Amino acid sequence: MESEVTPAMKESIKLAREISTYIGDVSLYENSVHENGDDVFFMVREGLKKFLIVYGKKGNNYSEIFSGEELNTLSKSVLKCPLSHENAKQVREQFTFTRAVLIGKDNSYGFGDRLGNAGPAHLRAVRKTGFKPILAQQSIRELERTKRTAEEVMDAATWSVFQEGYHGGFGSDGDHLKTPDDIDRMVRAGYTMFTIDPSDYVRDDVKSLSLQDLEEEYRKLPWSELDEDADVLMKRLLDLELELRDGFLLSPGKEEILQGMVKYGRVVVHTKVMSDYIDETYPDHPTELELSVDETDDPTTLFEHYLVASELNRLGVRLVSLAPRYCGHFEKGIDFKGDLEQFQDEYVQHLAIAGKFGGYKLSVHSGSDKFSVYKVIGSLDLGTVHVKTAGTSYLEALRTVAEADPDFFREILKFSLKRFESDKKTYHISADSDRIPDPDSLDNNELADLLDDNDTRQVLHVAYGSVLSGDLSESRGFKKRLMELLEENEELHEANLVRHFEKHLNPFI
Ligand SMILES: [Zn+2]
Repeated sequence: MESEVTPAMKESIKLAREISTYIGDVSLYENSVHENGDDVFFMVREGLKKFLIVYGKKGNNYSEIFSGEELNTLSKSVLKCPLSHENAKQVREQFTFTRAVLIGKDNSYGFGDRLGNAGPAHLRAVRKTGFKPILAQQSIRELERTKRTAEEVMDAATWSVFQEGYHGGFGSDGDHLKTPDDIDRMVRAGYTMFTIDPSDYVRDDVKSLSLQDLEEEYRKLPWSELDEDADVLMKRLLDLELELRDGFLLSPGKEEILQGMVKYGRVVVHTKVMSDYIDETYPDHPTELELSVDETDDPTTLFEHYLVASELNRLGVRLVSLAPRYCGHFEKGIDFKGDLEQFQDEYVQHLAIAGKFGGYKLSVHSGSDKFSVYKVIGSLDLGTVHVKTAGTSYLEALRTVAEADPDFFREILKFSLKRFESDKKTYHISADSDRIPDPDSLDNNELADLLDDNDTRQVLHVAYGSVLSGDLSESRGFKKRLMELLEENEELHEANLVRHFEKHLNPFI
């Protein structure tokens, strides 16, 4: 719920403006003005930096709680605090809306923010759409490539909701977690949604196995951990005749069952292990679980989805969302490639399966720029959905660079082109870097158009780690320059992000 501007709030905003003028050459974020009892908190920008200002009307001494510079302004206690981790922790103590919460089965949108400065624009775009924002969303791989900590990502979310005065509640997603250690890392930083990635346990070669080999592998599954008898499960699945949508009947044959269980049996076990680990280690921590099998070679069949969902259900694992590997291609940073009709037909059946097991959300990973898919899902108006985006915000930052400092953009693009052969390895993309024009041959005002070119988008997308980590001598200093440029051009950067995400969200509403 959004808070109304009460007369008392108007007073506080007036006061914040007044204090701001005393502090010096700062600009006030008006939506950031918050009352805490009689005291007033707000955020300002001074040059390239943002600060939290804490004003104790009745002389409350916040200097023991927040660390910052004490200013003698209006002969009252005013603290000017950097946006540090310690101060973020204190803000979360004082203002509950700055803590991540469970989102449950509401429609939700994941805004991965690899730079940590896109949150306010994300919130502006998502407001009034009915979608809940998942702000702190970062996978272990992203943390490693950007050299950020889970805490930094969470703090960025806290400051974003504070700056924007967003009281609607935001989720946080520890994305693609593979081990209990990954879970620990995310719980410690206050994350509440955990996306289990069991891809190491998927057996991708089942199509090449003979019936006899499949039988053998089926017998070798960890049945005690599955808490089931191999013959009992086989019989139950052979007897299955499940009607999904529009009369579609799910009734698998023996080979399909064997393939499904050999491919996903250990996925079920690992997911149960991860789920139990959270429940047992952190019984009081608010938790919701997503299961992602999106990073497999072949699309998830309807029967495979059913199998994983029904077995997890039997083992007592409750999901808030599940990400199948859909048909077609969900490449990074560009629109869907594939048969949209087939996507729609399968999507409604995936939804029907989710409906049989508690109605969890279907999750769309690599959701950046999948405009044609959003249109399909939005026009269906069935079930609930969770979309994850990340790289597309980084690309909007680079669009801002192209517009504000063309030469720096050329440097980043040339570096990314050099890195392409090696950086593309872990990604599902089809870009051909030879089709990208030499950045030196383009006029300054032509550069931003490259951000609408699929090849360039993907080349820039996959190089984010090399650009941001600064591990290579050529990229040393890139991140600092990029961050400073974005702070200097805050309004342009935000306008680019808001426009881009309205394009993402509008098909759903
Ligand atoms: Zn994913």
